[in-house]
Amino acid sequence: MTIHPGFPLSASPIALEEHYGAANYAPLPVVLTRGEGVYLWGQDGRRYLDMMSAYSAVSFGHGHPRLVEALVAQARQLAVTSRAFHTDRLGPFLERLCRLTGMDRALPMNTGAEAVETALKAARKWGYTVKGIAEGHAQIIVAANNFAGRTTTIVGFSSEAQYRSGFGPFAPGFVTVPYGDAAALEAAITDDTCAFLVEPVQGEAGIVVPPVGYLKAVREICTRRGILMICDEVQTGLGRTGRVLACDHEGVRPDGLTLGKALGGGLLPVSAFLAREEVMAVFTPGDHGSTFGGNPLAAAVGDTALQVLVEEKLSERAAEQGAVLLERLHALRHPAIRDVRGKGLLVGVEIDPGFASARTVCEGLMQEGVLSKDTHGTVVRFAPPLVIGAREIGDAVAALGRALERLGKAP
Ligand SMILES: *Cc1c(COP(=O)(O)O)cnc(C)c1O
Repeated sequence: MTIHPGFPLSASPIALEEHYGAANYAPLPVVLTRGEGVYLWGQDGRRYLDMMSAYSAVSFGHGHPRLVEALVAQARQLAVTSRAFHTDRLGPFLERLCRLTGMDRALPMNTGAEAVETALKAARKWGYTVKGIAEGHAQIIVAANNFAGRTTTIVGFSSEAQYRSGFGPFAPGFVTVPYGDAAALEAAITDDTCAFLVEPVQGEAGIVVPPVGYLKAVREICTRRGILMICDEVQTGLGRTGRVLACDHEGVRPDGLTLGKALGGGLLPVSAFLAREEVMAVFTPGDHGSTFGGNPLAAAVGDTALQVLVEEKLSERAAEQGAVLLERLHALRHPAIRDVRGKGLLVGVEIDPGFASARTVCEGLMQEGVLSKDTHGTVVRFAPPLVIGAREIGDAVAALGRALERLGKAP
């Protein structure tokens, strides 16, 4: 490592990040050093309420004792082996995952983007080997304003200019339809279509909840037209929206499903692609893999995370506390709030851009001791750990009220 002359080793962590890191994020100016439950602590000793939970990866709260215990115990025992061998941890984890979600089989990966890439590969191969699409012609329909990660294939079907700009050429074989419009999906299907990839609630797009009945209609169309319905529940899955899967709100079972974020218990990257038997059957040894996917450390933590989800009734908590959060946010009635929307503890507050950017509101929230992150410039995200209580929710909403008042008075 080269130490740049004149750059003191005592420089602040922020200065070091800015000097040595890539500028692919614009974090709020806070340096976190500790987390416990719904709270985070800054280097200055200040306590913050976490209303973001690492984009829903920390659904169980920071440092959940049982999850930390599972992590430490398994790390001592056996952590990484690769899938070249069996371990005593993977099978039980996959069983619990399948039983909880009602899917037949699961393929473990690490990040959400990898789970989605796995889904895309499964869908295409199913298209060729089961549906009989001519090799190289498979098309996957995606929804406008989707977010599925940052790999080159995935950003290639994003409708967000910044996610794509400068990163092409992109993989062909994707068709975009408006989100929440089942008729548009139906109209876009051709003989070469193998799947529709959709988020049951669009998270990064600004917490966009589709019309009631959309997923049911999508399910019916996919079945009737012989294409796979693949739900990307990397963010919405595992209790976030008030049910184990957001699909459960409409009683819909997809053919393929991606999970991630919370699956790692807020401790590790753990993701999975789950599918019906016929879909997962397209994979044979050597078709697909991941050095770290399904390692015993990840499996032990993921398995424990699923147990905690069920035993602590976190889906039910998310439904109850999400209703409290929505109600209190609606009751704020501040003129700068254009819309409050969401499901469970995945809530977005749309701010009038003429009043302030959502980023400015997040900076104001930080001053009030609440951490969150804007999405798409105008939406403040409220997606706390699912273990949050009504009192902390009250604190967060009061802080938003004060932050908006202060911004309203700012010169
Ligand atoms: C976050 C997210 C992903 C990508 O997950 P990474 O772990 O960041 O790769 C994929 N799909 C959805 C819906 C997400 O919210």
